[in-house]
Amino acid sequence: MDEIAYQNVSLSYFYPVKFRLATLIFTMVSTLSAQHADSLIFEKIMEEALIKGESYQRLGELCKTIGPRLSGSDQAEKGVYWAYSMLKSYGFDSVFHQPVMVPRWERGKVESLFFSSSVFSKKIKSGIPANYNCEAFEEQKLKPSKSYKIQACALGGSIGTKGVLQGEIIVVHNKNEMHELGKNGKLKGKIVLLNQAFYEGNINTFASYGACVGQRYMGAVDLAKYGAIAVLVRSMTNRCDLHPHTGSMAYVDSVPKIPAMAVASAVANLLDQMAKEDPLLKISMQMDCKWLPDRMSANTIAQTNGSLFPNKFIAFGGHFDSWDEGEGAHDDGAGCMHAFEALRILKSIGYIPRHSLRCVWWINEENGLRGAMEYAKLAKENGEIHVAALESDRGGFTPRGFSLDSAAMAFTIPYKKYLDAYGIGTLEKGGGGADIGPLKRNDPNTQLVGFIPDSQRYFDIHHAETDVFESVNKRELELGAAAVAIMIYILDQNLD
Ligand SMILES: [Zn+2]
Repeated sequence: MDEIAYQNVSLSYFYPVKFRLATLIFTMVSTLSAQHADSLIFEKIMEEALIKGESYQRLGELCKTIGPRLSGSDQAEKGVYWAYSMLKSYGFDSVFHQPVMVPRWERGKVESLFFSSSVFSKKIKSGIPANYNCEAFEEQKLKPSKSYKIQACALGGSIGTKGVLQGEIIVVHNKNEMHELGKNGKLKGKIVLLNQAFYEGNINTFASYGACVGQRYMGAVDLAKYGAIAVLVRSMTNRCDLHPHTGSMAYVDSVPKIPAMAVASAVANLLDQMAKEDPLLKISMQMDCKWLPDRMSANTIAQTNGSLFPNKFIAFGGHFDSWDEGEGAHDDGAGCMHAFEALRILKSIGYIPRHSLRCVWWINEENGLRGAMEYAKLAKENGEIHVAALESDRGGFTPRGFSLDSAAMAFTIPYKKYLDAYGIGTLEKGGGGADIGPLKRNDPNTQLVGFIPDSQRYFDIHHAETDVFESVNKRELELGAAAVAIMIYILDQNLD
């Protein structure tokens, strides 16, 4: 790009003004008509996705015959083999595995959380009091009892409790409050509920997630420093319901490791209210989750060879692994299907790409990123230049557009009116994705692109048992696949 821009500037210096103007108009007209011609390809792509689409059927197979695919699990391995033979059946130029050692954490069979409160028990006789703040509990028909089982699950990576762990609960709503209580010794020996809720005023729900996810990831480390014995984390969701959402969390060697659970948002509201009313509110929890030795797994890749630049690549994909709750349908089965379908559509409409196109299903994004690191490492070792990389990891919802690095943004903007026609003209600065980040570190010229679908329902199901095939809409998924195919086409046409 830089070289071409430099040539234009130096040539124009010597040309008479009239000639320069004519050249400019000619360039603009030819660029416009080129984009118009491209828009006819976009139509073909859309038609193929919506009429002969394969993404929905294949996602159904993945979700219902393989199911969840936590790195290192037997199911993930079964999935990796399924992925290879499925992609192989489409006759792409090549389909291959990249072996990757992945970490292995298991949830175990025991996973329970109870609370006991005589105050709650007395109140429950006349139904759940309204100030407990969620209709979700109304359906439960709780009866007076010594203790109540509540909806929670281990956070990914947590240690077990080694039997039943009991303690008093204390609720914290933000980081400042945590440090204040911690410094005053109030968290010592306590089970701490980190209850920072999503800010519902955000239009982009990923902004809410970004603001809260630190409590899930670093909560156990921060609280262990203050002597807490376990951490409960409010699920990362916009909904008030009874489904806990798991996700990764960290430990560091310099502080003790304490068990960590996610509690459903309705449970977090209830515990918060109960803690105010009953100073003797008690929690008991049990988990037998554990870490096992690393295991061999693989990235799965399907490739169409480039006609002009066979050794330059555009990689696009999602992560094949998922959490063990649900079926990893939106996260990130949908992203994998977007990429596969984009490669299939481009082949099916007879498009001959200039660069080599790679659909990549990275392994271990959720709890290690080992697949992404290995992919970038091998790309470097093999001298594979990646001119661009796109990731779809925000679910299979109605597509809205893309986030793009600056060079890609510059050549995509002229297409905006054509993209707007399909509702995919949102173009945001700064492309990225966890799995494609390492490619940028290899080569700062690699243009990163993030696929942006509508975000309103993503955190209803993210990392929860509700992320199942039934939560995916066929047309939304197909539109997303077409959007990805269109963007790959734009990248392929405009990069050298
Ligand atoms: Zn994901």
